[in-house]
Amino acid sequence: VKRIELPKSIRILHRDYLVQYFPEDGDHGCDGICEFRIGRISIVTTLSNDLIFETLIHEIGHAVNYAADIDDPSTEEEQVHRTTPIWMQVWRDNPELLNLLQRYCEGKL
Ligand SMILES: [Zn+2]
Repeated sequence: VKRIELPKSIRILHRDYLVQYFPEDGDHGCDGICEFRIGRISIVTTLSNDLIFETLIHEIGHAVNYAADIDDPSTEEEQVHRTTPIWMQVWRDNPELLNLLQRYCEGKL
């Protein structure tokens, strides 16, 4: 099975989150986990590539919310759940935007 090679870590504000795959968790029904206190994002190995990426962005969304101190469990989960697929679409359908962002990050604008 050829999986997407994920970044080893992702920086969100001053925090570095280790990124790793983990085996499917039976009936737990959880595709990803974001552990703020130890700085780790875990993604289930058996997902499709699309879902791996969506889950990664979803978990990053939780980490961003954590950094912003948005921590109401019900509304925070719902906010991340609803906005992640839209972000996926924005990135997928707008390569020029991604390219612009990359050039910005590289200090080339
Ligand atoms: Zn979630």
